[in-house]
Amino acid sequence: MGKPADDVLLDVRGLSKHFGGIRAMSGVTFSIPQGSIISMIGPNGAGKSTFVNVVSGTHVPDAGEVHFQGEDITGLPGHVIAAKGIGRTFQLLELFGSLSVLENVMVGCHTRSRSGMLACGFSLLSALKEEKRIKEEAMESLAMVGLEGRAHDPIYRLPLGERKLVGIARALGMKPKLLMLDEPAGGLAAHEVEGLARLIHLLVERGLTLFIVEHNMPFVMSLSRRIIVLDEGMKIAEGPPEEVRANEEVIKAYLGEEVC
Ligand code: ADP
Ligand code: MG
Repeated sequence: MGKPADDVLLDVRGLSKHFGGIRAMSGVTFSIPQGSIISMIGPNGAGKSTFVNVVSGTHVPDAGEVHFQGEDITGLPGHVIAAKGIGRTFQLLELFGSLSVLENVMVGCHTRSRSGMLACGFSLLSALKEEKRIKEEAMESLAMVGLEGRAHDPIYRLPLGERKLVGIARALGMKPKLLMLDEPAGGLAAHEVEGLARLIHLLVERGLTLFIVEHNMPFVMSLSRRIIVLDEGMKIAEGPPEEVRANEEVIKAYLGEEVC
C-alpha cells in the first residue's frame, strides 16, 4: 500500500468484518485528514458501529488495514489503540450507572495512567500524586463539555443528553488526536444537538480530528467536510454534504426513511 499523504491522520483500506454469516462491513476504504470533521451515515445495520469497533480495536477485522499517523495499527488491542490517540464513545454509552460523573470520566484518564494496575511498583506518594493529576484532568474534560457542576452526581440522575456528554468527556480524558463519536445526536432534544455542534467545533479548534457516525443526515450535513455513506456494509458514496445529499444511491438506500 502506498504512503498516505502527510495530512492524513487515519487511513483505512479494504476493511471487512463478518459475524457468522452476517457481512457487517466489506472492503471499506477512505481516509480522514488531520483537523477535519468527517462523518459516516447509513441506515440501521449498515455497519457504522462495526467500523468504529474495528478501528478502535474492539473487534479484529477479517481483512484490510488501518493506518494511524502512518503506522499500521490493524488488529491491535483497544487499550493500545486508545493510547496511540484514538478515542471513541459508544452508541449504547457503556457508563457505570452507580458511579459519579467524575469517576466515570476518571476511568478514561486511567488508561493513560502510568501506575493503575501496576501501582505496586510505585511509592504511595507518587500513586497519590497520580490520582490527583487524574482527577484534575477529568475535571478539565468535564469543564470542556460544560458538566463540571455535575461532577459528583451519580450517572443515573443525568438525562440522556448529559450522559452522552459524559461519554465524550471520558474519551477526552485519554487525550485523543482522533475522536470517534457513535451517534452522539441520537435521542437528543434540538437545543442539545446545537450544544453538541458547538462542542464539536470547539474540539476541532483545539486541534482534534472528529469522526462522527450518525443515523440521520441533518446534524452531520451542517458540520462535516466530507460524508461517507455505508449501506449493507459497503461504502456506496463519499463526498461533500451537498453531493452526498443528491446522490441517487444514497437516496435509494434511505428510501422509506426520513433523509432531511
Ligand atoms: P449500524 O451501526 O450501522 O446500525 P452495526 O455495525 O451495529 O450497524 O451492525 C451491522 C450488522 O452487523 C448488523 O446486521 C448487526 O446485527 C451485525 N452485528 C454488529 N455487531 C455484531 C456482533 N457483535 N455480533 C453479531 N452481529 C453483529
Ligand atoms: Mg450503530
